[in-house]
Amino acid sequence: MDFDFTKQQKLARKIARNFAEKELEPFAQERDEKAEFPVEAVKKIAELGFMGITIPKEYGGCGLDTVTYVLIVEELARYCASTAIIVAVHNSVAAYPVYLLGTEAQKKKYLFDLASGKKLGAFALTEANAGSDPASIRTTAELKGENHVLNGVKTFITSGGTSDIVIVMASTDRSKRGRGITAFIVEKGIKGFTVGKKENKIGIRASDTCELIFENCVVPSENILGKPGGGLFAALKALSYGRIGVAAQALGVARCAMEECIKYSRERKQFGKQISDFQAIQWMIADMATEIEAARLLTLKAAGIKDEDRPFSAEDSMAKLYASEVAMRAATKAVQIHGGYGCMKDYKVERCFRDAKVIEIYEGTSEIQRLIIARSLLK
Ligand SMILES: Cc1cc2nc3c(=O)[nH]c(=O)nc-3n(C[C@H](O)[C@H](O)[C@H](O)COP(=O)(O)OP(=O)(O)OC[C@H]3O[C@@H](n4cnc5c(N)ncnc54)[C@H](O)[C@@H]3O)c2cc1C
Repeated sequence: MDFDFTKQQKLARKIARNFAEKELEPFAQERDEKAEFPVEAVKKIAELGFMGITIPKEYGGCGLDTVTYVLIVEELARYCASTAIIVAVHNSVAAYPVYLLGTEAQKKKYLFDLASGKKLGAFALTEANAGSDPASIRTTAELKGENHVLNGVKTFITSGGTSDIVIVMASTDRSKRGRGITAFIVEKGIKGFTVGKKENKIGIRASDTCELIFENCVVPSENILGKPGGGLFAALKALSYGRIGVAAQALGVARCAMEECIKYSRERKQFGKQISDFQAIQWMIADMATEIEAARLLTLKAAGIKDEDRPFSAEDSMAKLYASEVAMRAATKAVQIHGGYGCMKDYKVERCFRDAKVIEIYEGTSEIQRLIIARSLLK
């Protein structure tokens, strides 16, 4: 077991950190307040090659490993969790399934644009009545000649308003529930596909979370991703990778909370002492550091398993579950350490607290991750 990173991994982390410090951190608070999508930052991230981190070079990506992906997403999230999820969703649940399951023609048509960041990707599974239970989606795709006609509404879609290409899960046979779901690559701008309500969220506010509406939307059947009826499989494969990215994002938020506490507790004085002199504060910071390290190891393990092409089912869920709960605990302690100031928007820990809550929910709630882990043990 090697606990050191390669030169290439360290370099990618350094590039991501330098970029995020300079280009994300100064604007993160304002973008959060205004719920403003980081358009220019995402363009610059594309120039760094981070919109196709693990996509092979032959398809326009960087061809890096999942461990590097984790390091990059953590750095972005350390300074702006919203930007990190835009990048993570694009890489993991939008571009990756096209690479994994796409035909050569689909890869040529869509993967180059996604991996280069020329086009932004999104992933649309959730509906108003189908979140944790995706097999019960109601969006339908009816075969008509050479096309499928999509009807239905997707909710809470990350980059829903800003994306160009969306992986949409729709039912081609509702009687088969999960086995009757098919994945489609759908381009924005086609007739019958509109963006609905933009959500006003508690956290991760600079990422746009929207409703996507399909009304008699005609999609060529050649845009089916993977096999007809294999949509849930495609979604679960994508989400498996997605959870590693969300775990990395959680690490970034947790680290932000902890690092802000280290700084603040040395500056803030009460009873004539820096509050960092109080053991109560020291222990909270020590617990944060220990849990972050444990979460990082779990996340890197899940990434390592993916890189070795070993089947991973529970590890990605363990990483997502643990890292997101660590982020929530770290952010809660961070607000506590900041006292009243921690409740104010002028302090970063307030944003960490709101961002961490969202991370415990998307790409599968903590309860669903526990369900997956338990199933893998009890099967
Ligand atoms: C900011 C944000 C961005 C998102 N981005 C996307 C996206 O890009 N694409 C996409 O498709 N979706 C996206 N989602 C949707 C997200 O994945 C779902 O919200 C999430 O999976 C939970 O589904 P739900 O909201 O319907 O909650 P529900 O499924 O209704 O769950 C409600 C509660 O019941 C619990 N619960 C449900 N079933 C069980 C069970 N079997 N056992 C125990 N407890 C259970 C849940 O854990 C939760 O506590 C996003 C959500 C948010 C908030």
